[in-house]
Amino acid sequence: MPFPPIQSTVTITPPQSKLFRKRYTSIAICSPADNLLAAAHTHTFFVRRFRNRRPAVVKNLLYFLLLSCVLRCAAASPAASQPRDLRFTFDLHDPAHIHVTLDLVHNRPGPEVLLLPSHWAGQTELYRAVSHLQITSPQPNIDPALAPTADPALWLLHTRSPGPVTITYDLAQDWSGPLRHPFEHRAILRPDLFEFNGENGLVTPAIGAASPVDVTFDFIGLAQGQTLVTSFGAGTHQHFAGPWSGVRNALFTGGRMSTRTLDVGGHPVLLALYGQWSFPIDRIAADVGKILDAERHLWNDTAVPQYSIVIAPYDDPHSGGGGSGFTDISNFFLADREHFTADTASLLAHEAFHYWNPAGLGTVADTQQIAWFGEGFTRFYQDTVLEHAGLLTPSEYLTRLNLTIREYSLSPRINATQADLERMPAADQFAYQEPYLRGAMIALWLSSEIDRQTGGRNTLTDLMLALRDGRAEPLTADRIFRTASRFVDAPTVARIRSFALDGVTVPVPEGSLGECIAVRDRPAWTFDLGFDTASLHRAGIVQGVEQGSNAWQAGVRDGQQLGGFSLWNGNPEREVTLTLRGIDGRRERLTFLPRGKRFDIPQAEQIPGCPQGPRIPQ
Ligand SMILES: [Zn+2]
Repeated sequence: MPFPPIQSTVTITPPQSKLFRKRYTSIAICSPADNLLAAAHTHTFFVRRFRNRRPAVVKNLLYFLLLSCVLRCAAASPAASQPRDLRFTFDLHDPAHIHVTLDLVHNRPGPEVLLLPSHWAGQTELYRAVSHLQITSPQPNIDPALAPTADPALWLLHTRSPGPVTITYDLAQDWSGPLRHPFEHRAILRPDLFEFNGENGLVTPAIGAASPVDVTFDFIGLAQGQTLVTSFGAGTHQHFAGPWSGVRNALFTGGRMSTRTLDVGGHPVLLALYGQWSFPIDRIAADVGKILDAERHLWNDTAVPQYSIVIAPYDDPHSGGGGSGFTDISNFFLADREHFTADTASLLAHEAFHYWNPAGLGTVADTQQIAWFGEGFTRFYQDTVLEHAGLLTPSEYLTRLNLTIREYSLSPRINATQADLERMPAADQFAYQEPYLRGAMIALWLSSEIDRQTGGRNTLTDLMLALRDGRAEPLTADRIFRTASRFVDAPTVARIRSFALDGVTVPVPEGSLGECIAVRDRPAWTFDLGFDTASLHRAGIVQGVEQGSNAWQAGVRDGQQLGGFSLWNGNPEREVTLTLRGIDGRRERLTFLPRGKRFDIPQAEQIPGCPQGPRIPQ
């Protein structure tokens, strides 16, 4: 055991940045002109953003060339404009192995590429979850055969002539131990819960993201009392017609869940909760209803035909929380089974907001290039939505906004250019978080400018709606700037560009939150334990105490044995408590604030005696 028994008082709370660890995947990623290269971009994006696995990409390039050729052949044939028919059958009888049958029609000369799960959301080698991949339709006139390639994620389907082919494989969970981050990004197969998505669980032909498909999904063997929830509904026979990206970004989950169907503006929203929680599902249902209602009104889009939300617990209470947006569904993994907090509600609002930003604003060729918008503007809106939904008071909104301003102001990547951020290693958490923070700050600043320059006739949301109106065009930084120029003058657009792309510090505009809110410089500190954080996990012997740090001043010294600790990781304003055994064997408890470097940062504050609360941006 690497660390002395952790006392029950120990609470390791992930940093807020981790609570906001989110991705969106439900976006059409390619340009219609070259679906396949766009697909390659997706891979590169995830590889670059989450794990540095360039060699794999280089290796894949050859196959992408091959894929490209195959698709071009397909484009030349008249059948290419017809939706491709596929049928998936999931046999759920054995909870440890989902037996998948894929029926397709091989309708072109030459071999067809089959894609196995590869990498998604930072996870790699996802093909390890797939076994027994084989043809089960031995028709002599077609004579189909599967052949592996040098890349385990790419197989080739050969046939003598066009015709129907049936392929089967088994999907299993390729990891073990408690469910904790980041295993939720791999296929989960438990006796009472399964969850996988189009990227980590399906073997499919190589199809361009925007190509039309007509796909049926059948589920057999669902255990008594278990619920099925996917991107395409809750029945055992499901159907999807639309762009292939809808399937790649689909979520398939089921198990022993409590469900509620909410009515949001006359349309159903299915809420499914797996596991035991201290808070009642009705409490979440009420809040989810309010959040979705507020977002749909904001987007003036009340006719969302169906939407689902699935919530499951991490086994590991230290995993914080995270969510992902998929086609018409979002999923959440939460560690805190006892509290449905404002952070959780905010996370829900964030993921649901991705339904429109960026998913509804046009195809996105490279999500990372516009992450400051797709993630950052979403981060800005997630709390304004909560306030509009009545789930945050204006003063709570202000508190949360100040936390964002603080996190942004203290970010070591605050002045990194967009190009710098794209080059930074995937493991750099600050680089990962920067677009969320930067974008939220740009949104606040721009909302104030739109209000000022249009004399209150327009709001930031009008810009969002204008972007949606132009969704036939791909969503790029240039289109965002161009659309913004309809609401603000050219120097303002140039400033947005410099904030977003050049890393110029975004100011907090005085008066942006109403007459009674002043922007003042306040001291803030970076989070710094004052000793080597590895001491918390390794032998429990304190090492690397910085002389003069708060820890040092409290009496923490090298060589002390750590018996337990309580801290809010990333929060310099919450006291750290250490239980230590000194070299002389005596135990003592020390507390201190984990403050590192001091900075003066802007904070928005209510002016004493001024009657109005903050004006929440629209
Ligand atoms: Zn997001």
